[in-house]
Amino acid sequence: MDDWKRVLAESITKPKDLAKHLDVDPDEVERIVGPYPMRITPTVLSTIKSKGDAIWKQVVPDSAEMEDFDAPADPLEEDTDSPVPHLVHRYPDRVLLMVTNQCPIYCRFCTRKRLVGKPGFLKKGELDRAVAWLRDHTEVRDVILSGGDPLLLPDHLIERILKALRAIPHLELIRFGSRVPGTLPQRITPRLCEIVKRYHPVYMNLHFNHPDELTPEVKEACGRLADAGVPLGAQTVLLKGVNDDPDIMKQLMHQLLLARVKPYYLYQADLTRGTNHFRTSVETGLKIIQALQGHTSGMAIPHFVIDAPGGGGKIPLLPNEYLLNLDDNGAVLKNYENKTYHYPQPGQPDRRRARPLPMVGASVPGDLCSSGMMDD
Ligand SMILES: *Cc1c(COP(=O)(O)O)cnc(C)c1O
Repeated sequence: MDDWKRVLAESITKPKDLAKHLDVDPDEVERIVGPYPMRITPTVLSTIKSKGDAIWKQVVPDSAEMEDFDAPADPLEEDTDSPVPHLVHRYPDRVLLMVTNQCPIYCRFCTRKRLVGKPGFLKKGELDRAVAWLRDHTEVRDVILSGGDPLLLPDHLIERILKALRAIPHLELIRFGSRVPGTLPQRITPRLCEIVKRYHPVYMNLHFNHPDELTPEVKEACGRLADAGVPLGAQTVLLKGVNDDPDIMKQLMHQLLLARVKPYYLYQADLTRGTNHFRTSVETGLKIIQALQGHTSGMAIPHFVIDAPGGGGKIPLLPNEYLLNLDDNGAVLKNYENKTYHYPQPGQPDRRRARPLPMVGASVPGDLCSSGMMDD
């Protein structure tokens, strides 16, 4: 057996086993894992430092999951947007292809809580149907392998899917969405990297929510993918009691960049049934973005998005603070230090030049240097 399969098999899935390691009531956990399965890999278990910490909250079943009756099971209406089984088509030029319902860990806040945990992988006939649909839809140039977690598929199935997709001439990008590097780093084998490399451009967006997830082994796994030429992005879910804090989020973004992973999306939590105890106010996310923008590397700043309930797709949100006014004269802008600047429209006078300029910085082209500062 591959080493990673052995490690995955050592994961905790039974309430009794969980109670051997962590201070939980096995009967209480039993009640929850009926509808909502649990799996905690050795890597994740060893990262839990104390009861109720940021890692614990993400993976240990909580009775609040069972008290959340009214919320929708499929708030993004993905089931409605599926032209053939396992494909979700919401945007003009890209689709999701769900290749399994298995995950290395079952996140307690999962948007696909209604689906995950069922055994099995995309079958040959199902792949053929999805590929046939993609062949007919020449407008699709980007396929995102999702699930569940596509990196739990055995190597030969990953290769089969990549090969079938690469035989479609109009397909440009293949992406993976995965939590495997952060939870089961042993899966990122040299052999897997060799396979993926043959089908470039292949991108991966990796799921990370807390800086403690970036252990040395996890960073090495990300490094192996980066060395195989896979551009790595991160997707983070904003979660109450886990990462709803600007300092923790900044640490996470810095750790990601150190692991050669570029922050991509920060998601407002979805309304999914059984996950509402994780939701934060919309202002929480906006304040986090404001605390990052300008205060640290632009590389460290993800897009903050809400996946609109009802299937509207991802909608980006920016703090309202930056554009104070925009008219035919120009834009009045506020920077991260609360200083105000004017950027003139083409053909409009540069209001900076209305007053005497200091010698230094005055000739820097296109640079809104301090001489452009307005009263604040
Ligand atoms: C997130 C998502 C995508 C990809 O969106 P990008 O903004 O291109 O990353 C595609 N389809 C569906 C249904 C999605 O939810």
